[in-house]
Amino acid sequence: MKVTNRKRVLVTGGAGFLGSHLCEKLLTQGHDVICLDNFYSGTKDNVVHLLSNPHFEMLRHDVTFPLYVEVDEIYNLACPASPVHYQRDPVQTTKTSVHGAINMLGLAKRLKARILQASTSEVYGDPEVHPQPEGYWGHVNPIGIRSCYDEGKRCAETLFFDYWRQHALPIKVVRIFNTYGPRMHPNDGRVVSNFIVQALKGENITIYGDGSQTRSFCYVDDLIEAFVRMMASSEEFTGPVNIGNPSEFSMLQLAETIVRLTGSSSKLIFQPLPSDDPRQRQPNISLAKEKLDWAPQVALEAGLSKTIEYFQSRLQA
Ligand code: NAD
Ligand code: UDP
Ligand code: UDP
Repeated sequence: MKVTNRKRVLVTGGAGFLGSHLCEKLLTQGHDVICLDNFYSGTKDNVVHLLSNPHFEMLRHDVTFPLYVEVDEIYNLACPASPVHYQRDPVQTTKTSVHGAINMLGLAKRLKARILQASTSEVYGDPEVHPQPEGYWGHVNPIGIRSCYDEGKRCAETLFFDYWRQHALPIKVVRIFNTYGPRMHPNDGRVVSNFIVQALKGENITIYGDGSQTRSFCYVDDLIEAFVRMMASSEEFTGPVNIGNPSEFSMLQLAETIVRLTGSSSKLIFQPLPSDDPRQRQPNISLAKEKLDWAPQVALEAGLSKTIEYFQSRLQA
């Protein structure tokens, strides 16, 4: 492939679920990729197929420590994303978001590089405004069991905007809503992976609460397309911008769909709702449509089918 605009791109958290798809996409576009990860929740298996590509480099490093590399763009994804992982070592989770942001922003400042932060819909907490526009400031418990993640991500956004105001750093902030697809961790406790694995094994499907709480699920390919468009958008556009699929489903509907698609005989069972579990969540994506000309293309059933195929082959292996 002849590439006219090859860039050196750093992806932190590159061996995770989203990061590995992003590395792939950037390589397909002809860029050189440095994939940084400390393997806290990610795994080499996610990127093993890229290791023989001369334009791909794997770096074992923890973003809470300074990093000196030379790159043109930085995607900062390093941070465990599922409650099971981020609650295992909550102090490390906050450090990863906050110290990680400071180090990556310091690196970007020295290099005058564009830097994108993978923020989250969790900055809205348990929202009182529905669906959530970017201008909503959120409803977050600062001292709960989800706070290490939510407040860490909120502080990272603050740091991004202060580096932008104080040092004129070209920043990009995307707020990601629930995303699913191949290479989700089978044991990370997220609802899509839990339900699919349970359905494929014929185990009970564990619905927390009465299953009426809602989420809006975005397929990973749609999300990665939005990342790349955001990075390439005009310098004035910093975000934050919501990225997600506005089609909203209850957990009960999700369970029933997965049982049907897998042809499983699993039964639905009800378990206690974890504390601070948001009641509903749906992105308002008007800004992404306007500024990035982006909207999700993959409907839930199509995306679930691909994800089911992935877990099926993993379980067989
Ligand atoms: P993931 O856990 O699969 O990936 C995170 C990666 O970061 C892992 O590979 C992990 O090992 C790495 N990591 C963690 N701490 C690190 C540290 N201190 N130094 C270096 N690497 C570290 O999760 P994901 O779903 O791929 O999420 C990627 C990013 O997107 C995260 O920042 C997450 O907060 C954000 N996000 C994801 C979702 C989603 O639905 N998947 C939603 C909102 C936001
Ligand atoms: N940093 C880094 N790589 C660099 C430049 C800076 O990891 O190439 C780290 C550095 O260790 C510092 C942080 O980024 O702790 C913030 O850097 P900045 O220059 O903003 O702040 P300062 O060094 O003045 O505290
Ligand atoms: N959930 C569930 N059963 C599970 C795992 C999760 O009912 O086995 C629920 C969970 O309580 C939440 C929703 O599914 O209401 C989404 O959970 P997830 O951890 O995937 O994402 P988040 O809560 O961070 O949006």
